[in-house]
Formats: sequence, structure tokens, C-alpha cells
Amino acid sequence: MNGSRRENFLVFGKPVLEEAEIEEVVDTLRSGWLGTGPKTTRFENAFKEYKNASHAVAVNSCTAALHLSLLVAGIGPGDEVITTAMTFCATINAIIYVGATPVLVDIDSVTCNLDPEQVVARMTERTRAIVPVHFGGYPCDMERLEQIAHQYGLILIEDCAHAIETEYYGRKAGTIGAFGCFSFYVTKNLTTGEGGMVLTRRPEDAERVRTLALHGLSQDAWKRFGNEGFKPYQVIDLGYKYNMTDIQAALGIHQLRRIERNWQRRRQIWSIYQEGFASCPVGRPADPPSGIRHGYHLYALQWDEQRIGMSRVEFLHAMRMRNIGTSVHYQSIPCHPYYQDRFGWSPEEYPVAARMSGTTVSLPMSAGLSDQDVWDVIGAVRQIIAEASAC
Ligand SMILES: *Cc1c(COP(=O)(O)O)cnc(C)c1O
Repeated sequence: MNGSRRENFLVFGKPVLEEAEIEEVVDTLRSGWLGTGPKTTRFENAFKEYKNASHAVAVNSCTAALHLSLLVAGIGPGDEVITTAMTFCATINAIIYVGATPVLVDIDSVTCNLDPEQVVARMTERTRAIVPVHFGGYPCDMERLEQIAHQYGLILIEDCAHAIETEYYGRKAGTIGAFGCFSFYVTKNLTTGEGGMVLTRRPEDAERVRTLALHGLSQDAWKRFGNEGFKPYQVIDLGYKYNMTDIQAALGIHQLRRIERNWQRRRQIWSIYQEGFASCPVGRPADPPSGIRHGYHLYALQWDEQRIGMSRVEFLHAMRMRNIGTSVHYQSIPCHPYYQDRFGWSPEEYPVAARMSGTTVSLPMSAGLSDQDVWDVIGAVRQIIAEASAC
């Protein structure tokens, strides 16, 4: 092993946790109020304000947020929902949970976002909704998608798992569609360990999401968490166990306060990477044009096996040997056996997603990275390329 191996392993997607949230969690534990309560409400209000949204309902994952949004949008058996071939499986699974059929479209090779013209091409009389995913934090072409949705009477549900800080020409991601779904999973830009949020415009939708997130209990049931004494509750719908707890919200409240500071840091890391790899034979991600606010959730290189003379798998392994964690976002949806069996999809039908899927490598992008960490990553990539090209 050469001398450039890091002392300690650089974890991919390591969260930045500070004293404030640690103390807040301890405070929650000492209060004895661990379930959904005042801190969840505080977090919802703070998030709603940050996103300039009408309503926010905290849940325990983005998967739950997507599932409930689709349900409340009235999507069900017989309906088709169009989404991208390049996303995490949860986007597809949520569509299947409500009994609808996911319909995939290929992506744009620059942004990795779904191509609106292919949405039109895949539309049938059963199409009811579109679920755009703002890939890596780069917003989809929402103007065109809104036009399409309006023209064909479709509902837009934004998967904002990568897009907490993302803005599209002054409009905040998650407030453009009828529903915006967020993830606070460990590796995301804001973490509550596990967690999610639904943003909606209409009060009745927010109320229904809230009901379905807690067993389908009537809204009064939420108040039974208050000090007003026992109130009998009623089940008014078939709900789920998707509520966020105050332990999670305790983390979220303080994570949200630092969201912009962390965003600035990731933007800095992004530009150091962009410069650091400028002379390398790898594809770099697209910088956002003016008017677009990138969420800088992922920084991915496109690994050209032919040009470098080393496979992506070997590269990932070489990074691991240098103590640097990497990841792949994603293997395209049609690569997975379950979906192939169930829907008959094959990767070749979505050539751009298939190509990206075979070449993409995500590098560490946590706000917690030091400058040295960032230079370690750049140095390792450059060195691996140099060694591969030399032999
Ligand atoms: C992480 C992620 C999800 C799922 O989020 P969870 O909070 O883990 O349920 C959904 N969609 C995308 C694009 C994601 O990256």
C-alpha cells in the first residue's frame, strides 16, 4: 500500500451532529415525553417557515411521506404514476404500496433528472400523477412539468429527499407540486436519524396526511398528547404508524438551524472538487445555471472505464483501500430483479439511466469534511487514475 492511505476511514455521508441537538435529545429523554409532542410541532413549524410552505406534517421517513401523499392525492389501483428510472427504490415502492402502477421515463444526461418530453410520451389515459425526483439536489424542469400536469390534469408529487435547500427560479422545492416529500435519513442534508416531512398547500390534505400517519385516528387523537386529560379517540380511516417522535424532532430543530451554514460548506466542497478534477479524464457534475439553487446533496463523477483502463468496481475498491468511503447513486431502477420480474422492465429501455448507472461514483459530500479530507479524496482519485493509466 502506498503512503497516501488515510489514518482513519472517511465515512460516506457522515452526519454533522453538534452539542445543541445532543442536549435537546437529552432534554427530551428527561422530560419523559418521547413520542409525538411539542418538539415535533416546533420542528414542523420551523421547517414550514424555512420552506415558506402552507402546511407541514412530520413523519418517520420520506418513504412514508411519499406513500401518504399518493394516498391523499387519491392515487390507487388502476392508476399509473410516471417517475424517473434513476432514483432510490423507495420512490417506486411507494407507488406500488397504493396499488398503482409505476411508469418509468429516462433521464437527462446532464442533470440526471427525468426528461419531461418522455413523460408526455409515456402518458396514457390511466396516468394520474408525476413524481419528479430532484436528483442530487438539482431541481427538475418544474416549469415544463407544471405545464404538462396542468394540461393533462395530473398531480405533481415532488420527491425532495435530496432537495431540502433546492430552489427553482425563486420557488422552493417541495412547494411547487401539490405535495413535497422530504427525507431526514442519516446521510441526507438534515438528519433526524430516520424521519421525513410532507409539505402541502391545502389544509384538508395536511389534515388527512396527519390522520393517516397515526393509525387513522381522528384529529382529536393528536390532542390526547396534550395536558387536557383523556379523550376517547376514533378510528376514521385505515391509517399507518408513520408519526415522528420528539426524540427525532429534537435533532431536527437544531439541524435545521444550521442547514444554510452546512449548505455553504457543501457548496465550497463542491467547487474544490470541480477544480480538483478539472484535468482528470472523468465526467464532472453540471454546475447550476443562475436562477437554480442546487441542494449539493451528491457529488458524483462519471467513471470512464475505457479511458482510464480500470473498472468502476476496481476504482471503488481502490478508494476503500485508501480509507475513503464512496457510494453509487444509483443502480437504475430497471436493474433490480424484483422490478424486472414484476413489470418486465429492462435497463436497455432506459439507456441514459443505464449508462449513468454503470459509471456514476458518489464522493463524500458531508458538511463535516475538513479541507484535508477533501484534498485526501482528490489526491486519492488522481493517484488511482495516474496509476491505472501508467500500467
Ligand atoms: C433517501 C431517499 C428516499 C427515502 O427516504 P427515507 O427517509 O429513507 O424513507 C426516497 N427517495 C430518494 C430519492 C431518496 O434518496
